[in-house]
Amino acid sequence: MNILLLGSGGREHALAWKLAQSRLLADGGTLYAAPGNPGIAEFAQLVKLDVTDHAAVTAFCDAQGVDFVVVGPEAPLVDGLADTLRAAGIAVFGPSKEAAQLEGSKYFTKALCDRAGIPTAGYARTTSLEQAIGALDGFAPPYVLKADGLAAGKGVVIAADRAEAEAALADMFGGSLGAAGAEVVIEEFMEGEEASFFAITDGITIMAFGSAQDHKRVGEGDTGPNTGGMGAYSPARVLTPDIRAKALTDIIAPTVQTLASEGRPYSGVLYAGLMLTDEGPKLVEYNCRFGDPECQVLMMRLESDLGEYLLACAENSLATMPPVKFSGDTALTVVLAADGYPDTPQKGGTIDNIAAAQADGARVFHAGTALQGDQLVANGGRVLNVTARGASVGEAQAAAYRAVDAVEFPSGFCRRDIGWREVAREQQ
Ligand code: ATP
Repeated sequence: MNILLLGSGGREHALAWKLAQSRLLADGGTLYAAPGNPGIAEFAQLVKLDVTDHAAVTAFCDAQGVDFVVVGPEAPLVDGLADTLRAAGIAVFGPSKEAAQLEGSKYFTKALCDRAGIPTAGYARTTSLEQAIGALDGFAPPYVLKADGLAAGKGVVIAADRAEAEAALADMFGGSLGAAGAEVVIEEFMEGEEASFFAITDGITIMAFGSAQDHKRVGEGDTGPNTGGMGAYSPARVLTPDIRAKALTDIIAPTVQTLASEGRPYSGVLYAGLMLTDEGPKLVEYNCRFGDPECQVLMMRLESDLGEYLLACAENSLATMPPVKFSGDTALTVVLAADGYPDTPQKGGTIDNIAAAQADGARVFHAGTALQGDQLVANGGRVLNVTARGASVGEAQAAAYRAVDAVEFPSGFCRRDIGWREVAREQQ
């Protein structure tokens, strides 16, 4: 069958690598990717398509006989692309516009948690600055303030005191995040360690699909400004079998069941950000797509045929699939970012020696790269995801940094401590 993968980051490079090995393509089918990147081009035929133009995507699928579309990022899902494609008879991995509200609206998710009895932080929904400032009285510092809509990871402020909280609220309601900040959810602060838990579903059957932990801050020791993620590892050992079982029965299952019973079944991957509190795992947030860079470490460990599982979600046949298999070792990815990231990443820096970095089994996924003639250059904030496996977290970390050191990217940088918490636990 012909498959179209949408997206252009490291997440999609990892998905393309796995999809290219799928039996779904064994009939001579083609894997297309739009818009893709130079790394993805190794595994897929790149297509110039504007994914916000739903009619153009559908027309491409019709013209090329694409039977299955895998959507990488959240924006096209929240925008309803999956609905358009399904209406045209094309199978899609990714939720409908209504179900993607789990990521598209913080309030939607909080209200769903209320209806389904899902453990999460207490909250207040506010629709004006005055109301929000009044609502702060019901919370203690640190104040967690969340713009309701999609804000590319910039919509959450944790304010240490009331003055900082009021200033942040004034910014949000003042339009600093556009329409995303027209409503703000104020949340109780949860103490604990965070971990990501993934499940795939066709709306009825649910299958756990691995776990990971990431490092969001730009600086070592998890300091400095927030980023899209500077590195990740899988599995998250803090998610013990007990906690995973609780996350499935108390959080994921009631979410899927409630959405189905309300007539908006969720199909695709549910990525639950969990806080491991003294009272058990609580939901921080849902994402309606794989994490980036968490996807890269999941794919590095995936032993099953990715395409078959994603198609089973799209075709409501997940119940017929055996449990998915991941290797028992650890995968760890280090993000190489362009100097100046996250504020003002410098584009155009040259990148060399990727083949040498991959010589020992590591994989270098392209996130923000471009070709200038034959020269690979940086074309975004997060540029490469250098990913390796090892029998322990320490070994995976050492292998990843060996590969990092082989890459020549003079105008780039990375954190040297990805996985530190887990490595420290391993050494205890
Ligand atoms: P992402 O970039 O992960 O998609 P987001 O903008 O959708 O983030 P959240 O994941 O909801 O927002 O919050 C971002 C971060 O803020 C979380 O990863 C967590 O560290 C912190 N956070 C959010 N809510 C809480 C809370 N109630 N208590 C403590 N920390 C929180």
